[in-house]
Amino acid sequence: MALVVHKYGGTSVGDISKIKAVAEKIAEAKNAGDEVVVVVSAMAGETDRLIGLAHQICDIPRERELDLLLSSGERISCSLLTLALQALGYNAEAFTGRQVGIVTDSAHTKARIKRITADRVKTAIEKGKIAVVAGFQGIDEAEDVTTLGRGGSDTTAVALAAALNADLCIIYTDVDGVYTADPNIVADARRLDKISYEEMLELASLGAKVLQTRSVEFAKKYQVPLLVKSTFEKEGKGTMVVEEDRDMEKVLVAGVAHDKNQAKITISGVPDRPGIAGNIFSRIAEKEIVIDMIIQNVSDQGLADISFTLPRTESKKALELVKEVAKGIGAKEEVALDTDIAKVSIVGVGMRSHSGVAARMFSALAAENINILMISTSEIKISCVIEAKYTELAVRTLHKTFGLENPSLVTSSM
Ligand code: ASP
Ligand code: MG
Repeated sequence: MALVVHKYGGTSVGDISKIKAVAEKIAEAKNAGDEVVVVVSAMAGETDRLIGLAHQICDIPRERELDLLLSSGERISCSLLTLALQALGYNAEAFTGRQVGIVTDSAHTKARIKRITADRVKTAIEKGKIAVVAGFQGIDEAEDVTTLGRGGSDTTAVALAAALNADLCIIYTDVDGVYTADPNIVADARRLDKISYEEMLELASLGAKVLQTRSVEFAKKYQVPLLVKSTFEKEGKGTMVVEEDRDMEKVLVAGVAHDKNQAKITISGVPDRPGIAGNIFSRIAEKEIVIDMIIQNVSDQGLADISFTLPRTESKKALELVKEVAKGIGAKEEVALDTDIAKVSIVGVGMRSHSGVAARMFSALAAENINILMISTSEIKISCVIEAKYTELAVRTLHKTFGLENPSLVTSSM
């Protein structure tokens, strides 16, 4: 008998008939002999609806109250799904994040899980019940409700799977696995049978929305086998996210990711002295704003320009703060915000052992007349910031350049 955590995304529980269908799916797994623990997202569109309501009241809602508000989306779907299981005659019980002992830090709207007891889930399993847990939420040490960032129910599921030492965590979603690029952009994008934790981690953090980045970090750290699969396609095989193996190293590029939720802030005329960058970025870090790429250009006047990228959703909050900081350090007061940018990236563990990948990427973009605004690299990824209007073209071009549509071509010839 296997212990399996099922996670159902928002579109899988988007209306009552879908909730009933999910209940049947869970019942089927239970009848087949699995112990099933379920984690659900809010019904499709619900979290956005709640955010919209808050924004009708104020521009920058206080995050403590926003979290309490947003956590209700998952409580609704979790209660309804449990009722649907009960209606089918199953002994199911619904729980909030708090009730299953999910304790997070206090970074409201993007809290990180610190510990998880899962006691009530364990008791439910012992009694043969199906535990249904509201995803995306926990409480901090002060017992305030927190949420885990957009897509955070994935992390609830993987963290529970780790805490319960589950045999498998299945992320049921509206796509049949992880693709070489977004199939809405690239018609011949391919589903990958398997991908390494590390590549998945990069793809997720670079904008592939199929899994929340934190969930992959958890899966990697606690070696939780993850299967990403479609809720709707019964025959779909999905994608296994697992430890890296030797086959994967032969592949130069595993996937192309893009992220349109980016913004760039530039501070000009920054005095070029030790401690200035430390000062700027400490102030940003204090506000728990996560930044991504940073570029500094030095001019001959002893003044530098510093640009950095961050999630677009944080750019208003950051801009106000950065203006204040710029004044304080004697930089130019007008700080530039550019929200018309996007990041395109290629990812593959094979890059570790192959050269020339960056050159091929840059040349391919140049051939389409796409200008590169910023570049960043790691051992297994290369990212370029470009003008947002070229995103789709760039993704298609890179997919083709690295032969991702054709599995036999993907193995490197370089
Ligand atoms: N409901 C939250 C969101 O829309 C969390 C999740 O779906 O995982 O981001
Ligand atoms: Mg999701």
